[in-house]
Amino acid sequence: FLAGTPVALNPILQSLCVGNNIMLLTNAFRKNFIIPDFEDFSLQINRLFESAQQQGGGHVADYIPQLAKFSPELWGVSLCTIDGQRYSVGDTKIPFCLQSCVKPLEYAIAVHELGSEHVHRFVGKEPSGFKFNKLSLNEEDKPHNPMVNAGAITISSLVAFLNQKPKQRSFLLMFLMKLFQSERETGDRNYAIGYYLKEKKCFPENADMIGALDFYFQLCSIEVTCESGSVMAATLANGGICPITGDRVLSDEAVRNTLSLMHSCGMYDFSGQFAFHVGLPAKSGVSGAVLLVVPNVMGLLCWSPPLDRLGNSVRGIHFCQELVSYFNFHNYDNLRHFTKKHDPRRRTDDDPVSSNKSVVNLMFAAYSGDVSALRRFALSAVDMEQRDYDSRTALHVAAAEGHQDAVIFLTEICKVNPYNKDRWGNTPLDDAMQFGHDVVVSVLQKYQHEYTDGHSRISTEEQSAVLDSMKSSV
Ligand code: GLU
Repeated sequence: FLAGTPVALNPILQSLCVGNNIMLLTNAFRKNFIIPDFEDFSLQINRLFESAQQQGGGHVADYIPQLAKFSPELWGVSLCTIDGQRYSVGDTKIPFCLQSCVKPLEYAIAVHELGSEHVHRFVGKEPSGFKFNKLSLNEEDKPHNPMVNAGAITISSLVAFLNQKPKQRSFLLMFLMKLFQSERETGDRNYAIGYYLKEKKCFPENADMIGALDFYFQLCSIEVTCESGSVMAATLANGGICPITGDRVLSDEAVRNTLSLMHSCGMYDFSGQFAFHVGLPAKSGVSGAVLLVVPNVMGLLCWSPPLDRLGNSVRGIHFCQELVSYFNFHNYDNLRHFTKKHDPRRRTDDDPVSSNKSVVNLMFAAYSGDVSALRRFALSAVDMEQRDYDSRTALHVAAAEGHQDAVIFLTEICKVNPYNKDRWGNTPLDDAMQFGHDVVVSVLQKYQHEYTDGHSRISTEEQSAVLDSMKSSV
């Protein structure tokens, strides 16, 4: 249904569905989602999933029994778009603990509640260049960033204050105590970090260091499935508003900061490479989870326990790399002139409002003979032959107004069809003649001649080459 296939809703189902989800339903019927062809998109995800499944190698973390118990065969991917379309493949209903994937969420909550300025009084923003659990601080004696243990433990001491209210306490009790106990028992390194942070006065005044560590262990022990984790990632992709409930859970600022730090520091000592090759904010954890965010599109949670030597899920990394080599999701992929990669996003020219706007803008540029505006539209891949409600093109308008330069630009550079007729059956040449613009008449006659000879119907590649050569003058 969410893939756009209409179904007849029975009245009970309808009342259940429509309640809070009127927008979801409306969007589904209008195929108005960020990924309109969700069915095809899901097929591609399956293909990428299967390719990653073939990846062997890696070791399942075994420092606590709760992690060692998982089979190395487990592999699941769930995704949730910013408008609530969801897709899952593989082992996506099995619970596992978030481990370090909780760090961005903890940081986001801290910034949401306490503000960026306060949080960054205690923790830096730079990649550390060291292992995530190293006993090390930056030059100002602060943890390097919130994605390493020292940073996350310090932030736990800030967030722990927020958890003093009884309601939130009982929420904490729901955490898996057994897992938490194991983490605590094997947490010597984290205790060492805690004492080091205490010695260097990294905690806020009156903070309880052991309490902060306990809270950190509890956070690492939170269980999710790929399905539920993907909604958390999608909330980050959606600027802090949960796409399923519509609730704002995090502020814009908290989300922006979090994504920036995930981008630079989220993947252990592979963060630089990941930012280079995948170009998306992500965070991985020792349980084999990778929380991946495609900002303004969707969130994903990939999970497979075998880890590579840097501590990232082997299949998770493979999947993220493949995802970005097929789709143009890399932060620095060009969205206008992409050639090889696929864009599953809704195109704005499918959207009636923006396509009307684009015609109106184009017509006004032609009407006022504004060649630099026309050039800008052409460089933005706007269709220079689109028609208004009278079936008139920009060339009709420019010809009727006698704007010689605009006519030359639309013909010589954009190579629009000069024979398009408006609703009264007139071509641009007819308009130029009717209003007595003799120079324009001769430009159009010459162009029509070339156009009919077939010389001017240049290929799209040639056209983009011409446009590229003009870029410097824009
Ligand atoms: N609980 C783990 C630790 O602090 C988290 C490890 C991880 O996922 O990076 O050592």
